Amino acid sequence: MAWRFMVLMKHSASRFLCTESYLRCLQQEPSPNLPTASVVICFHDEAWSTLLRTVHSVLDTAPRDFLKEIILVDDLSTQEYLKSSLSEYISKLPGVKLIRSNRRLGVIQGRMLGAARATGEVVVFMDSHCECHNGWLEPLLERLASDRSRIVSPVIDVIDWKTFQYHHTMELQRGVFDWKLDFHWKPLTEHEKKVRPSPVSPIRSPAVPGGVIAVHRHHFQNTGGYDSDMTLLGGENIELSIKAWLCGGSVEILPCSRVGHVYRTGMPYNFSDEKAIERNKIRIAETWLDSFKHLFYQHDRLACLISKAEKPNCTARIQLKKRLGCKGFLWFISNVYPELRPVQDRQGFSGKLYNAGLGLCVVAVRGLLELSPCSDNINQYFEFSSMKEIRFGSTLELCFDVRHEEIVLQNCTKEMENSAQQWDIKENGMIVHVLSGKCIEVKKTDICLQKCNKGINLVWQLNHSYPLDMR
Ligand code: UDP
Ligand code: MN
Repeated sequence: MAWRFMVLMKHSASRFLCTESYLRCLQQEPSPNLPTASVVICFHDEAWSTLLRTVHSVLDTAPRDFLKEIILVDDLSTQEYLKSSLSEYISKLPGVKLIRSNRRLGVIQGRMLGAARATGEVVVFMDSHCECHNGWLEPLLERLASDRSRIVSPVIDVIDWKTFQYHHTMELQRGVFDWKLDFHWKPLTEHEKKVRPSPVSPIRSPAVPGGVIAVHRHHFQNTGGYDSDMTLLGGENIELSIKAWLCGGSVEILPCSRVGHVYRTGMPYNFSDEKAIERNKIRIAETWLDSFKHLFYQHDRLACLISKAEKPNCTARIQLKKRLGCKGFLWFISNVYPELRPVQDRQGFSGKLYNAGLGLCVVAVRGLLELSPCSDNINQYFEFSSMKEIRFGSTLELCFDVRHEEIVLQNCTKEMENSAQQWDIKENGMIVHVLSGKCIEVKKTDICLQKCNKGINLVWQLNHSYPLDMR
């Protein structure tokens, strides 16, 4: 978060969340023998107000007995106020240390530097624009005390970066990621909510968010920490989460722990950051995804290009994986996050839609469907879903639909009954529109509906670009 956010945050008293479950959390007595924590805050050109807000909110809320220290890691900031003024200010705060790096490390390596200096039993990595709430630390320590191999995160509330308005996250959510290896929050389903022992029980999650996580320090170090060949920021939380799950640990979001984070909506990464993120993601794919990495490359063409050009070296990480005896990614998909399982693996196909008559493939161009020579372009990537939809592209939010007998892309309606977006794929290569009983045909350059007949322009081949050698 850049230095320009010099707005003072409002006082935290106004942010007290008064829901039944939060009150239930505050009533819980923490165990007396919790491990101690070092809070590591790595920053680069953070605003004075947000940085110190983060530090003071930790000091104000973390019980003295459990807070060993706060370690600030200055990742080569350039702003004047972060130099001697900051050193002077910090020197007056007991238990707060400031480490300066003389080269730009990025948050991943910066956090590792902080962890190497930490002396608490637990390390909490925290972004430099956060606001902690009463009782946030204890649940994290509690879960790590009973199992060192866990990685835990608070519920993250959203602080608007422009107005500093505070939005409490009310829904119970899991941390997940998609085939682009981007992190998302996903609300629990009604069924998942029902089977929970209590509304404040830990939420088993495929992934932790990046902003605030707690790990047992020795366990973190002994299992290879973050991937030290990752640069700047991005993807490290996904890597850490996959590693935890595959190598005998687990990942949880704890509803009783709450921290606000200033999100950078509207302030995109610059291009060099974006390339660094892609390279980090490539390292995840090459180290952990096994033969599923093809799906990542299909969904992220930039990563595919970079990976081909640069051939990343993940040998050290792959050796670590062997040394720790980690399971394969198929186990993760089968046991931790089945929703990630590719649609065509459950039913149907994914890949290119090849018209036998014309020898061309369907391509989506700015929301329209056209035909063009077949290629590995993501715009020729479709998936047949278990709801009989033909979905397009990386987001898979657009579906084949019909308008005036022409096949078009529309937002997927996800309706089960009487949907114009449902298709049957026949063994003879015909694709039948369920509602009308007509077939998809190519007429000149148009893709449209036609009464089914034996014409070659009605025959489609569905390419399986998905690897079959899943181990
Ligand atoms: N950061 C850093 N060095 C960098 C980039 C980021 O120390 O090269 C710090 C940044 O100050 C913040 C944390 O890393 O404390 C995460 O970055 P940011 O908040 O920009 O990421 P986001 O939360 O937007 O994903
Ligand atoms: Mn952040």
